[in-house]
Amino acid sequence: MTSPRWKRIVFKPSGEALAGPSGYGLDGDTLDLTAKEIIAVREMGVDVVVVVGGGNFWRGRQGAMTGMDATQSDHIGMLGTVMNALALQDALERNGQDTRVQSAIEMPRIAEPYIRRRAMRHLEKGRVVIFAAGTGNPFFTTDTAAALRAAEIDADALLKGTHSGVDGVYDADPRLVPTAK
Ligand code: UDP
Repeated sequence: MTSPRWKRIVFKPSGEALAGPSGYGLDGDTLDLTAKEIIAVREMGVDVVVVVGGGNFWRGRQGAMTGMDATQSDHIGMLGTVMNALALQDALERNGQDTRVQSAIEMPRIAEPYIRRRAMRHLEKGRVVIFAAGTGNPFFTTDTAAALRAAEIDADALLKGTHSGVDGVYDADPRLVPTAK
């Protein structure tokens, strides 16, 4: 058997990647497929952390465009990521994978608070750890959260899954800016 290229990864699906073809809300088949793919990686002995996006429900700039307070709008966006985290946890656990959700905004009835050492311990025990609520701060995105958590937990790779078919990391949105590098 070939050994995996990385020992520990952060996987960052955009909210849209969990939404299925419509790009909105959540899609049961997409969640199930995503869960199975995550479990296949875990079964190779790779520690898997998931940082979920939330754009399938709300992006902060949507509210800002209509005059909503920007911080308030970002709080709504972060709550969207918590819904995605709980849905993905459900899909993983129905497929037999022990999973913990840690939220950067404390909501102890439904998720653990983000505690780095505790997250590392979950990984040692073979659990998939899902980080919800981004960084917990407005004016950031879940991509920033993924990079931050990847550094904090000493991940070997950060992998991003998008719905839009963008094939890498660019200095601008390649769908809008043809010269993006
Ligand atoms: N968000 C935030 N702080 C964070 C992460 C996310 O305020 O640290 C808010 C922000 O409004 C963002 C929304 O949550 O638009 C959803 O996250 P993101 O746009 O990154 O989701 P994705 O595009 O990956 O689906």
